Amino acid sequence: MEDDKPSVAYFCMEYGLAEEMKIYAGGLGILAGDILKTAKEQDWPMIGIGILWRQGYTKQVINEKGRPVDTYPRNDYMYDYLKDTGIKVHVRIKNEEIACRVWRLEKYNNAPLYLLDTNLEENSNKWITGQLYGWFEEERIAQEIVLGIGGVKALRKLDFEPDIYHFNEGHAVLAGTELIKEKTKSGLSFEEAYSQTREEIVFTTHTPVEKGNEEHSMRVMKYMGAFNGISEEEMERIGGNPFNMTAAGLRLSKAANGVSQIHKETARGMWEHVDDRPSIQGITNGIHRDTWVDSEITGAEGKEEIWKRHTELQRALIDYVKDRTGVSLDQNKLIIGFARRAAPYKRANLIFSNKEKISPHLESGDIQLVFSGKAHPLDDTGKGIITELVDKSEEYPESVVFLEDYGIEIARFLTRGVDVWLNNPRRPKEASGTSGMKAAMNGVLNLSVLDGWWPEACRHGKNGWQFGDGYEGEDQDEHDRQALYEVLLEEVLPTYYDNKEQWKRMMLESVASTYHEFSAKGMLEKYYEKLYKPT
Ligand SMILES: *Cc1c(COP(=O)(O)O)cnc(C)c1O
Repeated sequence: MEDDKPSVAYFCMEYGLAEEMKIYAGGLGILAGDILKTAKEQDWPMIGIGILWRQGYTKQVINEKGRPVDTYPRNDYMYDYLKDTGIKVHVRIKNEEIACRVWRLEKYNNAPLYLLDTNLEENSNKWITGQLYGWFEEERIAQEIVLGIGGVKALRKLDFEPDIYHFNEGHAVLAGTELIKEKTKSGLSFEEAYSQTREEIVFTTHTPVEKGNEEHSMRVMKYMGAFNGISEEEMERIGGNPFNMTAAGLRLSKAANGVSQIHKETARGMWEHVDDRPSIQGITNGIHRDTWVDSEITGAEGKEEIWKRHTELQRALIDYVKDRTGVSLDQNKLIIGFARRAAPYKRANLIFSNKEKISPHLESGDIQLVFSGKAHPLDDTGKGIITELVDKSEEYPESVVFLEDYGIEIARFLTRGVDVWLNNPRRPKEASGTSGMKAAMNGVLNLSVLDGWWPEACRHGKNGWQFGDGYEGEDQDEHDRQALYEVLLEEVLPTYYDNKEQWKRMMLESVASTYHEFSAKGMLEKYYEKLYKPT
């Protein structure tokens, strides 16, 4: 271990380490998993704190009417390889003691991950750590008490003395109350404890959508026991009233970051009204290459080598799609991938929005589309979007495919095996977008609006394409629709079908221009340099 590196306890609600380990929902967890793998690889002193979800996030399948349906198989049988640390901690929830067992997970070449679990005989409520992002406000607060307050208590018993507590998103901010409480117990005033605690915490914000930033009423927080011995007035100073988890994360930290350069600007605007907070820096996400990137692609010495390997990876995707859906995609025709959370701002259906333009290409099959994604279980609009995509796959059965239950496995196949990775969120709502990095490093060309990470990497026509020129007017949908068709039909298609040599050059350039810049190792080095460094 390098002794000049501060030790870090990384807190996150979810960790995406492997498909089988169902304790993640999406991008936030994937980032956390990639960080722990990178810390392990570099032998940097970091551990993760999280929750052992019994059911995890929804396993979302499509019913015969084309509607997404949420199912929650228990995943307990998967957990044989967890190690019981023998440690138990207690938190108070609704005036009741809840015991949390602490498990240790190290199976995936990751820095040690400690997972809290309330599924114990002695607990009246065993299901607090049941569903990730499931249920309603009270359950969420209870889960956050376990993660934050239970997490700090677990660290004490584990004898891990972190220099830095890193909260990845607002879910962990109640850890701040425990850090303050420890200090007031040993005789400090609230004021002193608060200011010392702020020297230990750093915070990453991810959500440029107002609604996605969690807020709770003081009344419910208090009733749940989330104040943790801190007065209402003091809690209000930290998180405002209602208590905003992101505002609290900012006010509790000495340093904070957004996850791309453009997101830094958005986040600064969003949280300008929060007084007494650190300046939000921009540290662009990165990906763990060994997890996501094919080493034969990145090692390819020239156009023919990269193309040959690409056709192999594409074959694997085509077989996978055939297996899951019965559809046989044509390897000699362009395959476009699009996989993300089904939120309206991602505009999954943008490519279908001018039927006259797109329909001939889907009928002839010279454009093939593979979609995947989940909607949040309580999001009916998102479920409507998925149904629309499923309908399109029925309208164009040969050339449009929807893969149900998006997760790590599908993401790995898609970001290696398609030709083009399409991304068209309404600007500026995409915080970073690491799936595009996975694609880029696998020689899959990005076709994306200038949002999230892409403005930092895009060289139009050289390593991928942008469309829409970063336009943000009221008619952004119409503007981007036209721009998408223009670039897709006048640049992407002709390059693919008529200029394969240029296509292969672009693949090489896509890999070369992203390989170092967007690795999780580079990101983590910036964390150490800009967030974790002693002040
Ligand atoms: C990489 C990944 C994400 C994040 O990708 P975005 O570009 O932010 O949508 C989400 N889910 C899975 C399963 C992933 O592998």
